[in-house]
Amino acid sequence: MEKMHKNIQGAENKVGLVSLGCPKALVDSERILTRLKAEGYIISPSYEDADAVIVNTCGFLDSAREESLNSIQEAITKNGKVIVTGCLGKEKDLISKTNPNVLAITGPHQYEQVIKEVHKVLPPKNEPFLNLVPNSGVKLTPRHYSYLKISEGCNHKCKFCIIPDLRGPLVSRKKSHIINEAVRLAEAGVKELLVISQDTSAYGFDKLKFTNEKEQYGDIFELAKELGKLDMWIRLHYVYPYPSVEKLIPLMTERKILPYLDIPFQHSHPDILKKMARPANHKNISEKITLWRKMCPDLTIRSSFIVGFPGETEEHFQSLLNWIEEMQIDRIGCFKYENVKGAKSYEMPDQVPEAIKNQRYDKFMKKAQEISTINLEKKVGSIQEVIVDEVNSVSAICRTKADAPEIDGTLFIESNFDRLQPGDFCRVIVEDYSEYDLWGKII
Ligand code: SF4
Repeated sequence: MEKMHKNIQGAENKVGLVSLGCPKALVDSERILTRLKAEGYIISPSYEDADAVIVNTCGFLDSAREESLNSIQEAITKNGKVIVTGCLGKEKDLISKTNPNVLAITGPHQYEQVIKEVHKVLPPKNEPFLNLVPNSGVKLTPRHYSYLKISEGCNHKCKFCIIPDLRGPLVSRKKSHIINEAVRLAEAGVKELLVISQDTSAYGFDKLKFTNEKEQYGDIFELAKELGKLDMWIRLHYVYPYPSVEKLIPLMTERKILPYLDIPFQHSHPDILKKMARPANHKNISEKITLWRKMCPDLTIRSSFIVGFPGETEEHFQSLLNWIEEMQIDRIGCFKYENVKGAKSYEMPDQVPEAIKNQRYDKFMKKAQEISTINLEKKVGSIQEVIVDEVNSVSAICRTKADAPEIDGTLFIESNFDRLQPGDFCRVIVEDYSEYDLWGKII
């Protein structure tokens, strides 16, 4: 979703930033803004007020590419001085052809390069004043939660995905750097960390062969254990079901990290998973989920799926529907397969017609809604610890441990909520439910 970010006080040069795409791109935007603010730039909330605009693009799907190109065009029309960065920045020719007036184009996570380009367009007017930057850096999420990126890139080659081409192979951040960032965020008032990467369970794999370095990285279990020592909610996203995941479950039962796993399964049928070239062995995945739930009964599993991948027959689709029902996947996102140029699946035979993709998507979401409704009904009468996201005149909008911000459901408190503030925790008894949301009162 497109966001033109808020004004941040500072000196005279004013830079606007449009951030598109996923949470990983949002973290890149935060890094760019932190650096600019440290150098004395003002971050402007409008095209008209800015002296130049950075557009942090997404290039994952055709729809995202189109949105990125439109945003560049809009920035050119409304401001004129535009620097492009992010995933679509890899396609310089496309951008220059559609928007010849763009001043500079840099690729994903090229923070230094973006800053250099800003310097060329708007030379810094002040000495850097790093002390004005909050310890947590500049954040684009609300103050009480933050994304924590633990690695860049990915070593897999899923046929539908161009991320390894855009962002390169897996590069893990040093464990000490991640922990230091988490501590700074905690000190700045962050109460919940959303751990992200392209492949969270693979953290540290890229350093395994370097015996002198691997100690400084460890694996996802060691990292999660360290993060679990901080007094925050720790939520893991983009986890693949490698054997190491089993080690994470005890951290959940010990309440060191949230009992929540975001695992992008994408499909359940072995033929389609093979065609997709998905990582991790899915043969035993049903047994694994059953075991994890036995170990941690309140575990919430969120996942995303693709319907209409080339070669997906009605039988494959039906088996997927049955599987999400059998496994009671709690939170579900669904995408209709998009045939992205550059992806290995682009030339695959047996592309599924759009009308069938739409039908399958509707059926899938209906089933997902049914599962969610049944599971939320079971929560009525239970006591939940919630975090407050927002308070307005009619309710406090909160989330339980089972809900990640932006993508999952909410819990509304509609009475005696006046004293609550964003970032507060409170205990609630659940009184009502809908397909995706809950209602409760403070106890
Ligand atoms: S695991 Fe697959 S889908 Fe995820 S980033 Fe890597 S290649 Fe893409």
